[in-house]
This record gives sequence, C-alpha cells and structure tokens, in this order.
Amino acid sequence: MARAASKKTSKKSSPNRNPKFVYAFGKKTDGNATMRELLGGKGANLAEMASIGLPVPPGFTISTEVCTYFYEHGRQYPKSLEKDVKSAIASIESQLKKGFGARSNPLLVSVRSGARDSMPGMMDTILNLGLNDETVEGLAAVSGNSRFAWDCYRRFIQMYGDVVMGVQARTEEEEDPFHVVLEKLKKRAGVSVDSDLTTGNLRELVNRYKALILKRTRSAFPQDVMDQLWGAVGAVFGSWKNDRAILYRQQYGIPAEWGTAVNIQAMVFGNAGETSATGVAFTRDPANGEKVFYGEYLINAQGEDVVAGVRTPQPISHMATSMPKSFKGLEQVRSKLERHFKDMQDFEFTIENGRLFILQTRHGKRTGLAAVRIAVEMQRERLMNQETALLKIPAESIDSLLVPVFDPKALKAATVIARGLPAGPGAATGRIAFTAATAEIETRKGNKVVLCRTETSPDDLKGMLHSQGILTSRGGVSSHAALVARQLGKVCVCGAGDININYEKRTLTAGKVVLNEGDYISIDGSTGAIYKGLIESADSEVKRVLEGSLRPKSSYTYELFQTVMKWADKHRSLKIRTNADTPGMAQQAVAFGAEGIGLCRTEHMFFDGDRIDYMRQMILAVDEVQRRAALKKLLPFQRKDFVGLFKAMNGRPVTIRLLDPPLHEFLPHDDVVRRQLAEKLGVPFDFVIDRIKALHEENPMLGCRGCRLGILYPEITEMQTRAIFEAAAQIIRGQNKVKVNPEIMIPLVGFREELADQLRTVHRIAQEVMKSRKVKINYTVGTMVEVPRAAITADEIAKEADFFSFGTNDLTQTTLGLSRDDMGLFYDEYQRKEIYSQNPFASLDQTGVGKLMEFAVDSGRSSKKDLKLGICGEHAGDPSSIDFCHRLGLNYVSCSPPRVPIARLAAAQAKLRNR
Ligand code: PEP
Ligand code: MG
Repeated sequence: MARAASKKTSKKSSPNRNPKFVYAFGKKTDGNATMRELLGGKGANLAEMASIGLPVPPGFTISTEVCTYFYEHGRQYPKSLEKDVKSAIASIESQLKKGFGARSNPLLVSVRSGARDSMPGMMDTILNLGLNDETVEGLAAVSGNSRFAWDCYRRFIQMYGDVVMGVQARTEEEEDPFHVVLEKLKKRAGVSVDSDLTTGNLRELVNRYKALILKRTRSAFPQDVMDQLWGAVGAVFGSWKNDRAILYRQQYGIPAEWGTAVNIQAMVFGNAGETSATGVAFTRDPANGEKVFYGEYLINAQGEDVVAGVRTPQPISHMATSMPKSFKGLEQVRSKLERHFKDMQDFEFTIENGRLFILQTRHGKRTGLAAVRIAVEMQRERLMNQETALLKIPAESIDSLLVPVFDPKALKAATVIARGLPAGPGAATGRIAFTAATAEIETRKGNKVVLCRTETSPDDLKGMLHSQGILTSRGGVSSHAALVARQLGKVCVCGAGDININYEKRTLTAGKVVLNEGDYISIDGSTGAIYKGLIESADSEVKRVLEGSLRPKSSYTYELFQTVMKWADKHRSLKIRTNADTPGMAQQAVAFGAEGIGLCRTEHMFFDGDRIDYMRQMILAVDEVQRRAALKKLLPFQRKDFVGLFKAMNGRPVTIRLLDPPLHEFLPHDDVVRRQLAEKLGVPFDFVIDRIKALHEENPMLGCRGCRLGILYPEITEMQTRAIFEAAAQIIRGQNKVKVNPEIMIPLVGFREELADQLRTVHRIAQEVMKSRKVKINYTVGTMVEVPRAAITADEIAKEADFFSFGTNDLTQTTLGLSRDDMGLFYDEYQRKEIYSQNPFASLDQTGVGKLMEFAVDSGRSSKKDLKLGICGEHAGDPSSIDFCHRLGLNYVSCSPPRVPIARLAAAQAKLRNR
C-alpha cells in the first residue's frame, strides 16, 4: 500500500481521562516548549523560559483541552477547573506576597490567548485584571503612585468593556467609543498626550468609562475580581471563533479543532514611571533577515501601546543610551533566547522600575526574504544544520526573492511624498483605498489597491489580503499592520508620520500633496519610500541574474537563492517538471530549475495569428475531407512549435498532451467576429451560426472533450502525432544532435479501450514518420488520470500506458462533482462555515481525491511495476500537496514556471519531513 495517509492533527486525550487542565509556570513549572498542543505556543514557551532561568512573572496556563470542552459543552467548563484555577491563583499570591482582590498590595493579572501556532492580534487579551474601586487604592498605596494606579484602572475598564462586554465601534467609520470619551476628556483638560492626564482626570475618565458601559450594555462594570477573571477567560475562549480568527485560520490552514489555551500571568508594569518601559524585540531583523538587534520600546507604557500602534515607539538601539543597564540585560536575553530556541525570536519585555521581565517569546514571523536569509546564516553560524535550515523556510517564501521591484528608471522620475518604516519588502502600486471594504470592492472590479489607514486592526485582514500593499501613518514595525503584512507577504510601509489620512474627507495629505481615494500611490516596502502616482515595476535581482543582465557576484539575494536551491536539490527525490506550452515559458522554467516539461497543453498553441482561423476552419468542417484540409494547414505551425519546445528543453523530457478542450471553445461568441470569420473562410454567415449551434453542449466540461475528440476525429490525433515526430526527427537530425524522447499523453481517459484506440493511431503515425525520415525516436505514450473511473480501473489502464499523470484539476472537479469554473456562488459561505478547510482546487483534497490517487498508484503499479507517475494539476505547485505526492511515491510534480523554485524546496522538505 502506498503510504499517503494525510498528516492528521494529533488527537488530544479526552478531558475525562486526563483531568489536569491547569499548568503552572514560575517557581514551580509544569510544562515545557514541546507541549504546544496542550499549552499553546505562548504557554509552552513561558514554561520553557521559566525553566531556563529567564525572568518570567509567575502564572498558569489553562490548556487547549478546556477550549475543546468549552465548545463541546455549550460554553461550560469542566467541573474541576474552578478549583484548579483558584489554587493556581493562590500559588501566584504566595510567590509574590500579593492578594487577588486584596485591598492592600493587590495582585493584578493579564489574561491572554495562545494557540498552537501564533495568530497575532486575532484573539483577545485583557490586562490589569483584578482592579476595582477598592484595589485601585491599594495599588496606589503600594506603588506610591496614584496616577499610575488610576491609569491602570482606566486601561483595564477600557479593555474589559471592549473585549468582554462588547462595547465597540458599530461601523467601520465609527471611532472606538472609549477613544471618543478619552479624546473629549483630553480636550477639556487641555492636554494632547495621554501621559499628561492627571490623577484627577483619570478618576473622571474611569467614571465616564463606567457610565459608557452601563449605557451601552445595561450592566455595570463588575467589581468582583473572580467574576472579572471568568468573564475574561470566557471572552478569550470565545475569541477562537470570532470572524477574524476564522479567516486567519483559513489563510494559514490552522484546523478549528486545535483550540486556544488561556494564559493568566501576574502583571508587571511598564507604565510605572520614567524608569519603566515596555517593548517588542526581534533577535534579527524580521523584514530582511539581517543579524541586528531589532525592535522598539516605549517608556512609561504598557505592552498593548506598542502592538496597537497607538504611539510610535523608539527604535531599540536608542535604549543603549536612555536605559543602558536594561539594554545590556536585554542583549543577554537576546542571545540566550536564540541559542536556546535555535531560531529568530520575537519577544515581549517589560521593565518595571529598572527590573527586566520577559513576557513572551515565539519564533518570529518574518518576510520570505528574511526566512531565507536567517536560515542560511544560522546554518553558517552552526546554530542549525542544513536539513533544519531547509525545513525552517516556508516553501512559498522563496517567491519573495523573485517578486518585482520598482523599475529603477521609472523610480528616478517619481516623486517621494513621504517616508515611513520599511516593514514588508517589495514594490506595490495601486489606487488608494481607505477602508478594508473599499479595498475588497475595488479588487473585485479588477483594480489594484494600496490600503491606506492611520493604523490597521485585525478587522482589516480581509482588506489587506485584497491589497497590493499596506500603508499606515501610525504604528511601528511591530504594529498589527506590519506583523500581518509580513506574514501575508504583502508590501508594507508603516508609521509614516508625515502623511495625514482623513477618513471623512477621503484624502491622504503629505505636505502640499493631497491625494483622493482612487488616486494612484506607490510604496516601497524595502526602503519605506512613498510615491505619488503609478510606478512601473521591474524584475527582481534573482531574475536578472538568471537572465544574464546582472552578475551573480553582485547580488546577495541571488547567493541566498542559489544556496537554498542547491541544498533542496540535494535532499529531494521528487523530480520537478513544469507546465509550459511555449519556448519562452520553457526557458524561464529551466532557468528556475525545471527538469522537464510535464504538461504541454497543445490547445494553447492554437490561439495565435492565422492558426486560430485554420483551427476554426477545422472545427467548422462538415466532413473528414474538409477537416483534413484544415489540419494540413495547422501541421507546419504545430511542428515549428514542437521544434522550439524541444530546443528550449535541450534533451530534457517533454510530455505533450493531445488536444483536450471542447472544440466550440475556439469559436467566436460575438456576431461581428462570427461574420468576419464567415468572410475569411468564404462560407455563409448562417453556416457558421448553424455549426456553432450544432456543437453547443449543455455541460461541455463533461462532454465532447479529451480523448473523445481524437476518437471521434482520428485525423486530429494523426496531425498532432505527425507534428511531434517530424519535429523530433528534425532535432535529432540537426547539427546539435540533441536527444529527444517525446512523451505523448492522452487526456481524460476513463476506459482502457479509449487509450488503446488512441495508441493505435499514435503508433501507426510514429512508425510512418520514423520510416520516412529514417530515424529512430524513443517515445512513450501515457495517460492522464482525471476521472474517478481511470483511478478505479488503473490496473487495467496501466496495461496500455507507459505513464500516468494525475490531472488533479479535473480529478478534483469530477470527484467532488464541483465545477472548476462555478464555485464562486457558494465558496465564501463554505469557507465561513469551515466546510472546506482549503480551496480544493488550490490545495489537494487529500482525504477524498487523495484516496483515489493512492488507489490508482497501488493499482497501476500492481499491473506495471515501472509505471512512471506524475501530477500536472495546479496542486503540483502547492507545498502541502507536494508533500502528499512525495508520500504517495510519485516520480515527479509538474507546476507552472514561477512555482518551480517553490516546488524544489517543498519536495526537499517533504523528503526531510517524512524521513
Ligand atoms: C488537470 O485537469 O489537472 C489538467 C492538468 O488538465 P487541464 O487543467 O488542462 O484540464
Ligand atoms: Mg484536465
């Protein structure tokens, strides 16, 4: 049996069998970094950091099993949880000598989500929990700073009101209601920044926030700290199923059943005064991968201020002068984290009155370019070996080394209107869209957009997905916009303080330049430059080297690309072919490393110039004589095309598929063009109309296409075979003596006899040409497996075939009974309901279509041991489908030319992962 069972998410043990739901970290630590499934990434790493002696405030994690339980039991918790949480709180109390809800020296906690894979900003967080009208006075007394205590309290009410009690903006245009109250009060108090608010102002703000909550929800803000805690825990578990988390999971293929953990941790305060700070740091630059300490911090602030992009923070390097002692401590943490976790880390820290705490660490999200650079350089630094380095690079990220940059000439003529922080490399040009909704509408109309926001929130995710690039006027390199853009591989410039975005007037102003929604803007995510108007883009350095217009030595990006490709080729066993129909495409694919053509769709060769007319003449023919006359005119074109293709492939294997689509696809739909065609061919207009009607099919995808064409009109198969063999003979007899071994492929076969019928024609013509040209040509004939019947009867069909190529576009269509052209109407709803975890036409449905493939592989090879097997549907360029094909034991995958580098890397990863 071929071993291809899809990688299942491991089943968690049932809560009944393992009643431990709460895992402590701190003085006593229950978990470690390997327990991500149970503790989520954040919880597992907190435990790990605590056990290697990093300064982590104590806390505990409620496991992901509770999340599963919560959803399976109508949002209830397991019985023992309450008791476990109480005793975990008591343990923190005794470690810190503080009391939860105590009037003196009160314990405050943070409540945060933490899924197995991090989902930045998609779920909820609550800070400063444990404050009420009494404990706030206790905090004021113990800190000797009542302004700080009241600042914490107002922050808590704001967050709790928003996240737990649902007091939020009701439309995309409406401002956050808490923000409105805050701004009003600041105006009245005559201050411009939050930190200038006095204790009195903050007390007043607390009252106004409470009144806002009461008015909006008809419930008072809770004063009981245990009620607060359970409200927050419920909100965090509940946020696993909010819209943006669902969308994010779809984007990254995260299964809904994983669930999130909840982390409850003692608060430390970056807002305790001028010797306190909070920040986010990366052990290397996540935008370009350079080995520099990278990050930012805010003095006298809490963590959320940095991530939310409310205030633009200082670069971390400034800390060397402003807080030298803490900076030294941070640098030690930086190197300890990298050496321990052996990957670039993204960590959060807080300095409370000069004392450093680490609140979180995770493998840092990075751009594709950074992923490649970090892996290569960490291997050179011996932090990881070649295999690990290869596995660390998401296969898709190779693409970002190949993306276009602005055309240098066009750039010289362009006007820079402002600059921001370079947060996601690449070049993006598009029309300005000020809201996520506009971005979506415009892209659906076919326009390219750049989403321009003062700051983005997780709700903008959909709009970001639709945009070429993202520009924000506020927020630093770790703001939500930057983080998400990097991950999506989107171009991003953020924190461009010199631009002003006015949502009401729908304008973006930079100095004297005023741009309106819909105007063109261009942003360079590698330099941070913002340009007015549209700028043409140019090929990447890697492409220029491959084409010979740039010296390899002058491009570090190319060196990185080559290194990874060389490693990948060493480790993979799948061959990588390409789907190409022209010499140009074939050359590009070979430059990217293609080892052959796995699919040449011959119908694509009929569209150009005069040949479309001859093709139409052939289709309109009423009898074989007329058809042969038209085919005779097509023959020289086809032969020339094949000569070009064979030359471009220079001896590499070339699989040519005979004509596949329904014939009427080639006929004009428009009466004006139909009339012109009638004139050109010298036939009456009515004749053209009648033939089009006669050829009409209700369901052409399941009609007269594929091998049915060649069976109905053998002269088509004859012409195509002749063209292939005459071209091969010409090449073999040519001066360069290039080897040619054509592989002829018959489409849409479901019955052995269909293949046998076409084989007879192919062999007859092949013999004729070889005899007349006095040359021997080694060739093979195989079939595509595109309908379930072919898979089910693979042992029969294999008796006729030298090879199978899985046409998974059609095989998905026919297995799911789902038109590849018509899923738009219901697909959004299916995605929302998470019925399809992935688009089955983009990523192989391994449990359904994959089963058929597995069966066909076993059955085909059982009757022909050396049957060659490949795949040429779109899935052949998708990393997880490639992994599946590797496990299935296919010989090759064949994808479009730009995806060849991704496929090379994915094939190596598949082999390494399945060792
Ligand atoms: C397929 O069906 O997967 C295939 C490669 O053929 P086409 O996309 O041309 O139908
Ligand atoms: Mg097909």
